[in-house]
Amino acid sequence: MLKIDNLTVKAADKTILENFNLEINDGEIHVLMGPNGAGKSTICKTLMHHPDYQIFKGKIEYNDQDITDYTPTLMGKLGFFLLNQNPVEIEGVTNAELIRNVLSEQKGEKIDIFEFNKKLNKVCEIINLPKEFVHRSINFNMSGGEKKKNELLHLFMLEPKFIILDEVDSGLDIDALKIVGTSLAKYYEMYKPSILIVTHHADILKYFDDFKVHIINDKKIVKNGDKELINAIEIKGFEASIINGNEDNE
Ligand code: ADP
Ligand code: MG
Repeated sequence: MLKIDNLTVKAADKTILENFNLEINDGEIHVLMGPNGAGKSTICKTLMHHPDYQIFKGKIEYNDQDITDYTPTLMGKLGFFLLNQNPVEIEGVTNAELIRNVLSEQKGEKIDIFEFNKKLNKVCEIINLPKEFVHRSINFNMSGGEKKKNELLHLFMLEPKFIILDEVDSGLDIDALKIVGTSLAKYYEMYKPSILIVTHHADILKYFDDFKVHIINDKKIVKNGDKELINAIEIKGFEASIINGNEDNE
C-alpha cells in the first residue's frame, strides 16, 4: 500500500503541493484529474523522487516502509515505474541495452539472452511495436505514439508493481490510444499492479473496469469519488464538480 501523508512539495522555492493526501492499496487503480497547473505532474515526479521537487513536509510510505527520502534508483528497485507525459529521448543507448542492464541490476545476476529475446518478441507483439524498435535508441526520432508504445515495451519487460501514467493518452490518435489502452489493461490483468492514472480524458478509462477518482485543485485533492464522478466532470467540468456536493472531501 502507498500512503502519501500530508505532503508539502516545493520546486524552485515555490510551493506546488500542500497537505496532499492519497492512499492506494495494492492492485488498485486510481485516477487523478484536475485543471492544468494543479500539480498532477508534480505528484507523479515527486513519487519518483525527481531532484527538482523537494519534500518540505509530510511523509510517503510504501508497505509500511518510509520512502520519503528515497532516490529514483531506489524507487525503480522498489518496482515503481513512471510513464512520462513527454518521454525522454536518449540517443546512442538502445532499448535492449537499457532494459537488459536494468533487469540484471534488479536481479543481481546476468540475464539469459535467449529468454530475454523471447520475451522482447512476445511483448512487441502485445503492444504492436515493430521488432526493430528493440535495437533503436530510446525514444530517439520517434513519433508521440511510438514513444508511448516504446515506454510500454520497457514496462512489460521490467514488470513494475506500481505504475504512474502521466497523461499517457495525450497526443495519441484513436488507433494508438486503443493499443495503449488494451496493452495496459492486459498488463493489469497479468500482474495486478497498482496504477495511478493522470488524465484529462475519460477515453483511456474505458479500458479499466474499476477505479477510484480524485480531483486535484490548488495544490491538493479536493474531492474523492468513483466512476460516477467522471460522468459529472465530463458533463459539468471541474469547477462545478468540485463546488457541488463536497460531502466526501478529505
Ligand atoms: P499539471 O501537471 O497539473 O498541469 P504541474 O504539476 O506540471 O501541473 O505544475 C503545477 C505548478 O507548479 C505549475 O504552476 C508549474 O508551473 C509549477 N511547477 C512545476 N514544476 C516546476 C519546477 N520544476 N519549478 C518551478 N515550478 C514548477
Ligand atoms: Mg502535467
